[in-house]
Amino acid sequence: MQPYSSARDEFQGEATVFLDANENPYNHPYNRYPDPLQWELKKKIATYKGVNVESIFLGNGSDEPIDLVIRVFCEPTVDNIVSIAPSYGMYEVAAHVNNVEFRKVQLDTNFDVDVDALLQAVNARTKVIFLCSPNNPTGNNLSRERIHRILESFEGIVVVDEAYIDFADTPSFLTELVKFPNQIVLQTFSKAWGAAGVRLGMAFASPEIVKVLNKVKYPYNVNLLTQEYALKLLAEPEKMQAQLRRILSERAWLQERLPQLKCVRKIYPTDANFILAEVTDANAIYNYLVQAGIIVRNRTNVTMCAGCLRITVGTPEENRALITALEGCQ
Ligand SMILES: *Cc1c(COP(=O)(O)O)cnc(C)c1O
Repeated sequence: MQPYSSARDEFQGEATVFLDANENPYNHPYNRYPDPLQWELKKKIATYKGVNVESIFLGNGSDEPIDLVIRVFCEPTVDNIVSIAPSYGMYEVAAHVNNVEFRKVQLDTNFDVDVDALLQAVNARTKVIFLCSPNNPTGNNLSRERIHRILESFEGIVVVDEAYIDFADTPSFLTELVKFPNQIVLQTFSKAWGAAGVRLGMAFASPEIVKVLNKVKYPYNVNLLTQEYALKLLAEPEKMQAQLRRILSERAWLQERLPQLKCVRKIYPTDANFILAEVTDANAIYNYLVQAGIIVRNRTNVTMCAGCLRITVGTPEENRALITALEGCQ
């Protein structure tokens, strides 16, 4: 397959006069098409993450690489994907949009992956396994040793979605990218970096996999405003790290206060910036909080999450407003 070749792909060297892409010559710099492969941004990410620049794919949120991985590796109506349940809803949506069968394997009672059951769901037409660690909506890391067993025993692609890895005290699977050429690690600017609005997702994988994703993506999938904004964030990572510390200390505060409430039955351990809480009546409490102007995620209809609300850690003021509201609810 021949990918689209943009005007700017077709020359090498220095130039000052650009009459090749039918752009308006005014309104610098937004008159110009952005770098299709985002090299400047990728170099900064490579340094920050300690990975090779050829191992990075950038997309319009993580949602783009999730969709691309399915389109690239799966034959519609023939191949299938295996994943865990409960987990992030986009894997299943992206599979179905691409007319690819999606197989779900329940987590065990500790919300960890049941490796034997997962591998039993795999057949000759399974091309991709999607894992999520720390997992959404449960909040916990999957066991490292179990992810290793999956990476070692499955010959297809294993995606490890690490959207919440910055909130965990465990190392990223990025450190093992070279060891497992069938691995794709997903990270994002949407959570710890505080930039969900600019839509920037990262996929880290072998250069061979990155090349295939680049062939299929839209040529200008990451716009200039987003590339500029991400460069600004990466120029001062200590700002993000300071926010991260605040969020982690607020998480600890919520972990202490939530279980003391009458309407909270239990909270689950978390390695992310949210807490899954089992409450006395999820629908009623969800509606009660909406009335109070506080929105949490009602997960009561999700597999294994009956009676549960998923609560994102907010600012100190927001978290106190939540606890105060919940104190008034029976
Ligand atoms: C929030 C989240 C993402 C981020 O998706 P973006 O498209 O990058 O905003 C990815 N995976 C999981 C599991 C998430 O919860």
